[in-house]
Amino acid sequence: MITPSKTNNNVHIISLGCPKNRIDTEAMMGQLTKKGYCFTNDINSAGTVIVNTCGFLQEAVEEGLAEISALALQKEQLGFRLVVTGCLVQRMGRSLKNEVPEIDALVGVHGYDNILAAVEGGKENSIPANGCDYHAKFYQNRLISTGPGWAYLRIADGCDNRCSYCLIPSIRGRFRSRPIPEIVREAKMMASLGVREINLIAQDTTAYGTDIYGRRSLPRLLKSLCRIEGPEWIRILYTHPAHIDDELMDILSREKKILKYLDVPLQHVSDRILKKMGRKVTKQRIVELLHRLRTKIPGIILRTTFIVGFPGEAKADFSELHDFAGEMKLDRVGVFAYSNEPGTRSARMPGQVSEKTKSQRLDSLMLLQRKISTNKNRLRVGQTVSVIIEGRAAKGNKDVPFKSGYQYYGRSYAEAPEIDGKIYIRNSRQLIMGRIYQAAIEKAWDYDLGGIVIR
Ligand code: SF4
Repeated sequence: MITPSKTNNNVHIISLGCPKNRIDTEAMMGQLTKKGYCFTNDINSAGTVIVNTCGFLQEAVEEGLAEISALALQKEQLGFRLVVTGCLVQRMGRSLKNEVPEIDALVGVHGYDNILAAVEGGKENSIPANGCDYHAKFYQNRLISTGPGWAYLRIADGCDNRCSYCLIPSIRGRFRSRPIPEIVREAKMMASLGVREINLIAQDTTAYGTDIYGRRSLPRLLKSLCRIEGPEWIRILYTHPAHIDDELMDILSREKKILKYLDVPLQHVSDRILKKMGRKVTKQRIVELLHRLRTKIPGIILRTTFIVGFPGEAKADFSELHDFAGEMKLDRVGVFAYSNEPGTRSARMPGQVSEKTKSQRLDSLMLLQRKISTNKNRLRVGQTVSVIIEGRAAKGNKDVPFKSGYQYYGRSYAEAPEIDGKIYIRNSRQLIMGRIYQAAIEKAWDYDLGGIVIR
């Protein structure tokens, strides 16, 4: 085991997985900064390396193990302490050390109040089983690693929905909302750092408040957040279709700061499959919900995710999903092949679908969505939109859809950070990162757009 050198308080931190994990990473960074630790991108100068892992799907488990094993090989030569945290630790427990004996300390998602002890060598394992109430203390001094100009804000942790394919409730624990004053305090801190776009996250943002206030309270929270000076955009991510009600739609249509964008993971639309998934909605309810959202909130951008190849998904179920996607033409769609996770109810279900069929279904849905996205993007040419500038467009990068002409990239209300497309921007003068500018859309690609600053 390596204890940190007294003179080396440099920490190299690797954050894997989703935005919810990213917030834990930022909170850990805040805790360590308070105690005099610094962060470095250069692993050669690090006294400690922390890997904050994801454990949601088998693929994430493999990615996490590969990352940790690669670090284990460098550890002896570079002499750093190796601390592994997050969902994978919660999922695998101490058996992770059997896989990679070079790990010095393990910290699960309910053990973050021991992160300092883990880094300093005082605690080898902190993997409590249940969701402890660490929020207020843990998020104090959180650093922001996203941006410029935007950040995530967690409003709750854990999940009570218990979808049959999902390990999150057993990893992250019961649904726990953070009190409104605590969230508002953190949002004000973010505002003081120049954050203009706040992205609200939780496993289910629409269940906010059910545990501590006895009813769904996202609208109440939104009203408080809208009163904070500074942030101009508030985006709601990770909703649940069974929990979107009129009160939420009203505030979305009324409040200028709340972006007309909703992330509604539907996962499927065949009633048979929805029931097996435990999603608590029917196709009829989904269709009604989407129509209501589009009628009550003109211009709303809807993002969703679908899972293909769920156990028992027959050809007819997939065709129903495909037809639905073609008819509803949602703005953003992510498609995942069902992953059989040991410990879930769906892992024991009969009718497992072959990997080949899953991959064919995924490709076919993505191809359809690509066409929908291209057509929708073409309709946006000529529109004027507010764009938050995120960075410089790297010419020659294979992900960039143009050869020259655009110097920056950013997003409008219609693009969530990290998952949706980009708007590439040109301007004759330098633009300030994190600022919001008015741009005219002049070019459309499949998922991205090109625009010129007009104000
Ligand atoms: S809503 Fe369902 S899929 Fe999402 S975290 Fe909760 S149990 Fe998992």
